[in-house]
Parts: sequence; C-alpha cells; structure tokens
Amino acid sequence: MVSRIIPVASFDLVIFGGTGDLARRKILPALYRRFLAGQMPADAQLIGAARSPLDDAGYRTLAREAIVEFGGEQAGERRLDAFLGLLRYVTLDARGDSGWDALKRLIRPDRVQAFYFSVGPGLFGALAERLHGYGIAGPRARIVVEKPFGHDLASARALNATLAEHFREAQIYRIDHYLGKETVQNLMAVRFANILFEPLWNSQFVDHIQITVAETVGVGGRGAYYDRAGAMRDMVQNHLMQLLCLIAMEPPSRFEPDAVRDEKLKVIRALEEVAPHHIVRGQYARRGDVPSYREDVDDARSTTESFIALKCHVSNWRWAGTPFYLRTGKRLRARVSEIAVIFKDAPHLIFGQEAGRHCNTLSIRLQPDEGMTLQVTIKEPGPGGMRLIDVPLDMTFAEALGDQVEDVPEAYERLIMDVMRGDQTLFMRGDEVEAAWAWTDPVIAGWEGRGDVPKPYEAGSSGPEDALMLMHRDGRRWREIR
Ligand code: NAP
Repeated sequence: MVSRIIPVASFDLVIFGGTGDLARRKILPALYRRFLAGQMPADAQLIGAARSPLDDAGYRTLAREAIVEFGGEQAGERRLDAFLGLLRYVTLDARGDSGWDALKRLIRPDRVQAFYFSVGPGLFGALAERLHGYGIAGPRARIVVEKPFGHDLASARALNATLAEHFREAQIYRIDHYLGKETVQNLMAVRFANILFEPLWNSQFVDHIQITVAETVGVGGRGAYYDRAGAMRDMVQNHLMQLLCLIAMEPPSRFEPDAVRDEKLKVIRALEEVAPHHIVRGQYARRGDVPSYREDVDDARSTTESFIALKCHVSNWRWAGTPFYLRTGKRLRARVSEIAVIFKDAPHLIFGQEAGRHCNTLSIRLQPDEGMTLQVTIKEPGPGGMRLIDVPLDMTFAEALGDQVEDVPEAYERLIMDVMRGDQTLFMRGDEVEAAWAWTDPVIAGWEGRGDVPKPYEAGSSGPEDALMLMHRDGRRWREIR
C-alpha cells in the first residue's frame, strides 16, 4: 500500500506550558505518535518552555514519563530515545524577560515556526508581545491557542484584539479538539461527497437533531476554573456549537479554511435566542461515596451548572421548524459524545399500524468507539408476515477498509500537523468564536437575572428529570446515554 502520510516541512515547535497537564497528557504523546508514524521531519525541534528550572535532559525525563503514562503505544526504548532527542527546553517566564534570548537562539528562521500557548489565557497577551518584541516569531509564524477562548463576548473580543496586535488571523490557530476527530471529518465527507443525504438534510425530512456530550467524571482538580465557567461556557459555547455547525452548515464551495468557516459562522449567526423554558440546568448530587458538585468545588451555595440541556433553532430556510437539542454534563451514566440526526417517519404506513412507526437515524459517535451508523428499517427475516425491525448499518466500514483504519491519527495529532502544514480548516476563526459568545451571553444573563438554581441530579444518572421533560413535551425522547 502506498504511504498515506503527508510529509510536513521541517519545523520548530515551542510548547509554552511544556511542563503542564495538557502538554504531558496530550501534546507530547501526540507528537510521539506522529514520530512513530513517520511524519516527523528528522530535524524537527520540539521545545518545551515554562518557569520550572529544567535542562534538556530534565525535560526529556519529564516527556518520557508522560509518554509512558499517557502515550498508549509502546514502541521500544530505541524509538522513544530517538524521539526524545528532538526535545529541548528553555526556562522562561511569560511575564518576565529572562529566557527569551535563549529561546531566540534556538529558533531557526528558515523553518516553519509554531508556538503552542498551552498556558492559561491570562498569559496569551504576554507571550504574543514577547514573541514579537524579541523578534522570535517570523512573519509566517503560527500560534496555537487553547480553550477557554474568553469567558464572554467582551473578554473574547479583548483576547482577539490582543493577539491581533502581533499576529494576523491567518497565523492564529484556535483549537477545538472535537474538530480533529476522524468521525467529524467523515461527517463532512458523508454530507458533501454523496448525493444520498443532502436532499434529505433539511426540515422537510429531519425531525430533530440531538447532540450529547456526556462525561462520567466530575470536575476533578478543575473545580476552581469550572465553577466560574459551568457547562454552558465550558462545553456548549465551543464543542457542542462546533458540532452543531457541521451538521447545520450549507455545503461550502470548496473544502478550504475560509469557505468552511464562513458557512459555520452563518449557522451561529442564524441561531435564535433560547427561550428560558427550553433550558434545563443541573448539578450532580452526592451518591454514596461520590461527592456532590458543591463538595467538589468546595462551595455549598454554588449555582453553577454541571449539566445543561437546551432546545434551540437555526433560523434559516433549511432548518426552520427542526429543533436542535443539546445536552452535556458531568457525572452522567456513561462517557458518550454523539450526534444523532433523526429523520421523520415515512409519510404513509403501507404495512399497517401493527408494523409500528419507524424512523431512520444517522448517529455519529465521537467517543468511545468513533463511528457512524445509519438505522434502517427492514423486514424481519423469516416467516410470520411483514414484521419490521430497525437495524444499524455500520458506516465505519472497518471491514471494507481493513488495516487502513488502524493508523487513524487522534485529534491532537491531526491538528498539530495541520498547524505545521498551515491548514486552518479545522480551527476556529476569531469571528466564529465571538459569534458563539454573542449567542451564549444572553442565555447566561437570562438565568442569572432570573436567579435560576440548577436542579440536582443523581451522579451516574442521565441528568435531571426536567431534561427528560424538555423532550417529552415535544413528543420525543433523548437517546439513551450508554
Ligand atoms: P497547567 O497544568 O496548569 O499547566 C500550565 C503550564 O503553564 C505549566 O507548564 C506551567 O509551568 C506554565 N506556566 C504557568 N505560568 C507561567 C508563566 N508565567 N510563564 C511561563 N510558563 C508558565 O494547565 P493545563 O491543564 O496544561 O492547561 C493549559 C491550557 O490549556 C489552559 O489554557 C487550559 O485551559 C487549556 N486546556 C487544558 C486542557 C487539559 O486537558 N489539561 C484541556 C483543554 C484546554 P511552570 O509552572 O513550570 O511555569
């Protein structure tokens, strides 16, 4: 089989916050897997930068431990050593002046330069300013920024303005790792490379859409951050919004960054304000040994939501009348991220009432077990008349594609390599992020103004009862979280 690895030009990648949780759990293991896949240029430089006083050897030890713990793949000591040989480390303070000259000496002006801001957003401005001030970032350098991108519209605008002082939009890569998932891209292929779905992809044929991102974990060590954010800011404004965009957007004229992002932006701008009775917020309660949300964040009066379900509408010709139901939460029954497109029933039941009502459902699963299934109705095989059953048609095609399925890069691997290639298609543009906040802000201001308190739900459940009612009132049901 011809190699499908697309080579990337030699690069210098600086990971600010190179000693932090994200670098250790995601970025370093992702780079290692690209190395194993043969995509890492032989003379790439991967430079960790943070305040901790480490040297190259100390950073390599940190990276080795991180890769062993979080990397999954064990390819042997020799290969790991070869990878670690690409790593360097610079001690610096984003807000100070020491270390920056040392970083400048390491950066090669004739290579692709990328700077990953794996630090809190409060440091983005200081980093951008120093990269510029010390003459480190060349005119084609790229910066990668993590969520959260702002806390509301005003702070997101301020952040965009700060970055824009030193970098052009074409240099800024705002990561949403959901967009790096294989299935998310497959969704675009299924929608836009087949004639089959597109004619049905509208309110005439789609009954409703459900987007669920359920986690089993609580807020863990992120309590202080999370309690200021809540599920709406932490998940809906970015991840669920991006998934909604990919489902709802018009076909772009080309699969190119701005063509795709223009279409996503139109969707966000077409979102109607959410009515208060279409929002359910929840907070997990203690169950046995599992502490409650309020215990986890150490605030007995917290009114931050660890769960949210809402119904919204995309107000345009394609989607007028088709509701989008979004739901996300912590300490739920199972860890699931899924989009389900539920088509309408057949208009006329020729098999009679007893055959029951059936509707096709396209489900796009991001985790666990990434894949797509289309539920179709067929005759139950065998004698006994015309009995209908629903069966899932596996659209992952693992068998047809054989071993090609195995070397699918994970989200962070793909996205980091896209940065090196200069492809912004799977990254959020500044105006998209602002539009998402412009929709989110009034929703939050609404419940704050009303003094709404989240409904308790049992850890390990599907969320508060009211979330079920949100669907029942419309004669619909959530898909099971499992
Ligand atoms: P973290 O574990 O607290 O790491 C922060 C990193 O920044 C450390 O390497 C720290 O190292 C460095 N740092 C802090 N202050 C600094 C300064 N003044 N100058 C230079 N370096 C400094 O945080 P994280 O979880 O890795 O998160 C990093 C960013 O990614 C945050 O914006 C977070 O919201 C975002 N994010 C994280 C995750 C995740 O899974 N962890 C997921 C999505 C988004 P020193 O103390 O050695 O300086």
